Amino acid sequence: MDEKPAKRIAAFIEPLRVEPGSRVDLAKDFDARYKARSLTKKHGVELLGATTALLADHQARLAAQDTYGVLVCLQALDAGGKDGTIRHVMSGVNPQGVKVSSFKVPSAEELGHDYLWRYARRLPARGEIGIFNRSHYEEVLVVRVHPENLDRQRLPPSAKAESVWDRRFREINDWEHYLSDNGFKVVKIFLNVSKEEQRKRFLKRIDVPEKNWKFSASDVRERRYWDDYQRAFSEMLSATSTRWAPWYVIPADRKWFARLCAGAVLVHTLIDIAPQYPTVGARKRKELLDVRRQLEDEWSPSLSSGRPSPSVSS
Ligand code: ATP
Ligand code: MG
Repeated sequence: MDEKPAKRIAAFIEPLRVEPGSRVDLAKDFDARYKARSLTKKHGVELLGATTALLADHQARLAAQDTYGVLVCLQALDAGGKDGTIRHVMSGVNPQGVKVSSFKVPSAEELGHDYLWRYARRLPARGEIGIFNRSHYEEVLVVRVHPENLDRQRLPPSAKAESVWDRRFREINDWEHYLSDNGFKVVKIFLNVSKEEQRKRFLKRIDVPEKNWKFSASDVRERRYWDDYQRAFSEMLSATSTRWAPWYVIPADRKWFARLCAGAVLVHTLIDIAPQYPTVGARKRKELLDVRRQLEDEWSPSLSSGRPSPSVSS
């Protein structure tokens, strides 16, 4: 593709990337209200349109090439905007090539397996984009903030030692490295919403009747653990932003800006893969031309007066 948009997209998302090996303090290092200074909402929405068009083109190539897959992990606190981001960013993409999986409280069957099992079952195939709406990162976030979740996982005593979180970070990094080595790019997006913006969005869910169905009292109760989550997110971002699967922290207080950033991160990954339509060899090309000639020689209604000639009809 043209070098220029690719470079511009890379420069646009660079400040969002968590440098592998750096120590993150979410509240200090990332501003949920940030937006590129010169960008207006109108321009941002137009740019998202251009981004989704690029995405659709690259996704078609990804599917045709059938060699690489992409896994997008989307994390956010409640009302962070995961659903809207998926809806807007993927709007122009062929639904056949995209698989969205949402992860909730684990079922009894899921708790009967190792903690990565349910995520591994939903991985995309080659040629596909898989989106994890919440992901294996819940295993070092909600499970860490509410340790009773760990008890439900029935781990043997040796697996519950002090170092359980460090061990999970290492295992997750190793798993993603394995996926990336085998042709599956892992894209990790954290929609970083501020506590005040979350409060406003909850209020809106109460005040606007069409949004009432989205309101959950338990989400509001979960706000009490805000600082614990900020700490868990900071440690998770520090430990699992890697060369092969870096984290992008997206300022999410402005929905339109968050969607643009998420689209740009995904497009950047696809541009990096540079998927190509398969080309055919000389023999196959000759075969295609032979068939073409046969098709051309066949009778076509558009070449006649529109009615079969007497010699054709009996
Ligand atoms: P929405 O509210 O927009 O429908 P959601 O992702 O918040 O989307 P919910 O059904 O409201 O979906 O919540 C899912 C819940 O499952 C979250 O509170 C999350 O913390 C919890 N959850 C996800 N993974 C795990 C896990 N491994 N262990 C325990 N709880 C988990
Ligand atoms: Mg919810």
